[in-house]
Amino acid sequence: MKASQMIIGTLKEAPQEAKIDSHVLLLRAGMIKNEVAGIYNYLPLGLRVLKKVENIIEEEMDNAGGIEIFCSAIQPKELWVESGRWQKYGPELMRFQDRHEREFCLGPTHEEIFTSLVRDLVKSSKQLPVLPYQIQTKYRDELRPRFGLMRSREFIMKDAYSFDKDQEGLEKSYQNMYETYSKIFTRFGLNYQVVLADSGNIGGNGSHQFMALSDIGESEIVYCNECGYAADVEKATIFKAKEEKDKMLDLTKVETPNQRTIEEISTFLNVNPNRCAKTIIYHDYVNNKLVAAVIRGDREINEVKLVNEINSNENYLELATDDEIKSLGTIHGFCGPKGLKCEVYIDDEVAAMKNVVIGANEINYHYINANFGRDFDGKVCDLKKAKLNDLCPCCGMPMGQNRGIEVGQIFKLQTKYSEPMKCTYVNEKGENVPMVMGCYGIGVTRTLQSIVEQYHDEYGIKWPLNVAPFHAVIVPVNYKDAEQSRLANDIYAQLKKKGVEVVLDDRDERPGFKFKDWELIGIPYMIICGKRANEDVVEFKVRSTMEKCEKTESEAIEIVVSKVNEL
Ligand code: ATP
Ligand code: MG
Repeated sequence: MKASQMIIGTLKEAPQEAKIDSHVLLLRAGMIKNEVAGIYNYLPLGLRVLKKVENIIEEEMDNAGGIEIFCSAIQPKELWVESGRWQKYGPELMRFQDRHEREFCLGPTHEEIFTSLVRDLVKSSKQLPVLPYQIQTKYRDELRPRFGLMRSREFIMKDAYSFDKDQEGLEKSYQNMYETYSKIFTRFGLNYQVVLADSGNIGGNGSHQFMALSDIGESEIVYCNECGYAADVEKATIFKAKEEKDKMLDLTKVETPNQRTIEEISTFLNVNPNRCAKTIIYHDYVNNKLVAAVIRGDREINEVKLVNEINSNENYLELATDDEIKSLGTIHGFCGPKGLKCEVYIDDEVAAMKNVVIGANEINYHYINANFGRDFDGKVCDLKKAKLNDLCPCCGMPMGQNRGIEVGQIFKLQTKYSEPMKCTYVNEKGENVPMVMGCYGIGVTRTLQSIVEQYHDEYGIKWPLNVAPFHAVIVPVNYKDAEQSRLANDIYAQLKKKGVEVVLDDRDERPGFKFKDWELIGIPYMIICGKRANEDVVEFKVRSTMEKCEKTESEAIEIVVSKVNEL
């Protein structure tokens, strides 16, 4: 392709809203462009990358026995009512009505559609297992779309769904997808970690996420180098706290004027924050009630664990207002589990402690020496967010912490959709039984940007060869020079003939301008035709290392062709 015929939308500066390198670079390199927050257009260079990313995913999915289909983004309400998610999904679901006031949504995911397709198309057990998949646009009205393609409102996902006869089949399908995802993310050259995950809005039991490691990742991971345990902090458990053996002291109410936060209380009473318990009151809008969660003072609450415990939904859980707190006979800043007029959930760590500081549900008062079982009660469960140096739940060693970008997630759905939606087959005994399902998602556009996040430098993007928009670019220093244009055209023709995706920069621009453009865009190899063109000698530049050396025309062609042939 000739550069003069392309639309190259490179920019000197990225628009203000771009906060992370990969977002800045995708905009500056002219890969994507947007008009509205969280909704993107793919420009010619970005589209070439996107297609390559999709091709790699398709190749591996096909190798794994997947069957590609393509479904509409528009989904009827009725299917979502059948699965029970029309109510539960929350404001992220983009809902609309047609002119006849029939209700629809733009699919944030496709469990309902695939389950409906398979129940209609697959009747005999002989047809199972099946693994249909698609690469398709998804819609989620994210509360805070940000970081470009990382968290957008319209994005491309590869979603696959496995349908098996039984649990054993599901385990095999899940393992197959686990291995396939590992192959896919390895092919993208991503530095990633696989972690145990919560199954969130999708549901089921048993899930892993694939995390591209990055400081800008929104997910926190804890992991154990000793035994290999790794989990998203939403899911991570820690080594069970030992029951403290100390003698229970007398419960005492102490005056704590204006001391509301754990920091204030612990300083005022001169105790470590980890000897205090904090009580957080929530309004659970799914079950329409107030609940209290009690965790150690130095801990962060894990709302995902809480909603799982109370059978609610993250989108429908809010901190209680001051008035709601008052309605429980307590006051903000002095809440405690003793005598609270609502359901109380106690983190197991607090239940195992002796002589804890808690709020007295009275303005300017706390209790010291409060003990679970004697002074307060509640349902004991795990409500804490794991953190650095917490002990591994499997082997008890201190854990490390990483940040990651969730590029993929796999779920064992079991019969969560097949049962209510009656996606069944007839077994050997002649009974109708629900198929056992799994589902498997890759954020295609988020993965594309994650590659940029891991492959860039101060000059721009450094695309790995297998996803680069072009393999090579030929830059004549001055295309009007007869020798330079002769050599450039010759190399261009030869590379094209050998199957290399190559651009010839025939633009009438200064050489520095052209070099900068291609470095920003991130083409892996640059062949510069300059002052030694008459001897068929070029400068050969490798983008990943920025190394530059002289080569003969045939050497330069040979290097690029052999690298492309290795793909
Ligand atoms: P997150 O926790 O980041 O909101 P999720 O767990 O809700 O994501 P899934 O339902 O597991 O997402 O979707 C499968 C994949 O789709 C995710 O692993 C992620 O890579 C991608 N994805 C999800 N939401 C978005 C989004 N708003 N923008 C871009 N990609 C997304
Ligand atoms: Mg997920």
